[in-house]
Amino acid sequence: MTLGSASAIVGPMVKAIFPGSFDPPTYGHLNIVERARGIFEELLVVVAVNKQKSGLFAPEERLELLQTLLEPYKNVSVHLCDTLIVNFARSHGCRVLVRGVRSVPDFSYEFELSIMNKGLDPSIETIFMPTDPKYFVLRSSAIKELASFDGDLSAMVPPNVAAALRPKTTLWNASQAPSCQ
Ligand code: ADP
Repeated sequence: MTLGSASAIVGPMVKAIFPGSFDPPTYGHLNIVERARGIFEELLVVVAVNKQKSGLFAPEERLELLQTLLEPYKNVSVHLCDTLIVNFARSHGCRVLVRGVRSVPDFSYEFELSIMNKGLDPSIETIFMPTDPKYFVLRSSAIKELASFDGDLSAMVPPNVAAALRPKTTLWNASQAPSCQ
């Protein structure tokens, strides 16, 4: 390693990418965005389209929710990506990939992913950001479950996400017709 290559990453004009499923976006995601946008010149928040997994929200709906939430941030933009994340990062001039971690299991998953991405493109660095303790229990899957029981989501997701979740989970509940007497 040379000092030259390391200092290039810590320059003033570094663009970063924050990819995820965001199904749906939570305050935990927004906290990572808020902190990362203070470090990097530009932050691209990327809804990664997973062809194996159909989410509760269509990728375009997640994109729209994030666009509404992140509209006030001038150095943040929101994108959809249906290719490899490292290819997307490279083609948009991003040298850093930001990932949030909540726990040790999260870290081992994220660590393996970062090794795989490093193998695919050694020029892109993954940076892990530990969650804010306020949000460490927040995960999209638990939020969907809570929404299906009509639980209070106000500390977990912004109002536009909570409003979008209600009709989805009502439909989901109706399709799981209760079998109790
Ligand atoms: P993925 O399916 O790619 O893990 P997610 O939407 O679940 O997508 O998460 C995107 C990124 O945000 C991941 O790095 C994840 O660890 C991070 N993240 C999710 N929830 C939180 C949270 N509450 N605090 C910090 N980071 C989080």
